Amino acid sequence: MPRILHEPVDAARVPRFAGRPSFMRLPMPDTPEGLDIALVGIPWDGGTTNRAGARHGPREVRNQSSLMRRGHHVSGVIPYELVSVADVGDIEVQPIDLMAALDQIEAGIAAICAAGALPLSVGGDHLTTLPVLRAIHKARGEGPLGLVQFDAHSDTNDRYFGDNLYTHGTPFRRAIEEGILDPKRIVQIGIRGSVYAADEHQWAKDQGIRIIYIEEADRLGPQGVVEEIHRIMGVSPCYVTFDIDGIDPAMAPGTGTPEIGGLTTREAQAMIRGLAGLTIRGADVVEVSPPFDIGGLTALTGATVLFELLCVIAAGMNR
Ligand code: MN
Ligand code: MN
Repeated sequence: MPRILHEPVDAARVPRFAGRPSFMRLPMPDTPEGLDIALVGIPWDGGTTNRAGARHGPREVRNQSSLMRRGHHVSGVIPYELVSVADVGDIEVQPIDLMAALDQIEAGIAAICAAGALPLSVGGDHLTTLPVLRAIHKARGEGPLGLVQFDAHSDTNDRYFGDNLYTHGTPFRRAIEEGILDPKRIVQIGIRGSVYAADEHQWAKDQGIRIIYIEEADRLGPQGVVEEIHRIMGVSPCYVTFDIDGIDPAMAPGTGTPEIGGLTTREAQAMIRGLAGLTIRGADVVEVSPPFDIGGLTALTGATVLFELLCVIAAGMNR
């Protein structure tokens, strides 16, 4: 299939409140064939342990993404001139059977990878990242990936409610156990909040995960955090996952597990821009929960994070 540089609907012709609310107002082709980057929704929150609603995330992030214009005001990047990117719709996933849902999500991402496109997805709760990582890991065959994780939570707990291994509090423990992630190349940024037990993060630290608690992120500043990310990731392949609860709930209240004292949107933007130069194999924005949102603020934050990620990844593909 020929490589087509898709453009958002021209805002000078059709105002941005009109038309179909696809991601970034891009076309919605039936297939990821020919794309460099596939924007895709994963409307599923069956891994949520407390306040559900992230299944509604993709639709509202699409809606708010109509506020994104073509270009990045700092880097000057216009992703649509660099790469072929479109919105391939939502992965077909049912909300009832958890294990079957994980397989459906993996199959959806596998189809994107098989077409040669990089998946840039919008969740969904954070358990959706596990099947995404499974698909990328299998498709690329490059060995364990590194992980840059923006989040209030480590998501490396073992099990919930008895012996349930698959929840949005456990995806990265499972991914390490499955050999998908290299724990020594995982950096978690913005971790905070109360814990179930004082040694809750000990397993993660024992594996070699670098946890940058919010207090240290504050001391280092965005530039210091970026330097630490590059030191840990190097140029080996990695994945970037952005849990919207990494942002302070004053700026992103629409999420299931808010924790006060978080990153500002400005700090997050500076850090995402600093990811330039990494070898990124995929990325996501998760845990936007519209039922808890106020005036679309969190979905707008999610859409903006998605645009920042799109710009930095598109520029990296063209180096
Ligand atoms: Mn998370
Ligand atoms: Mn979280």
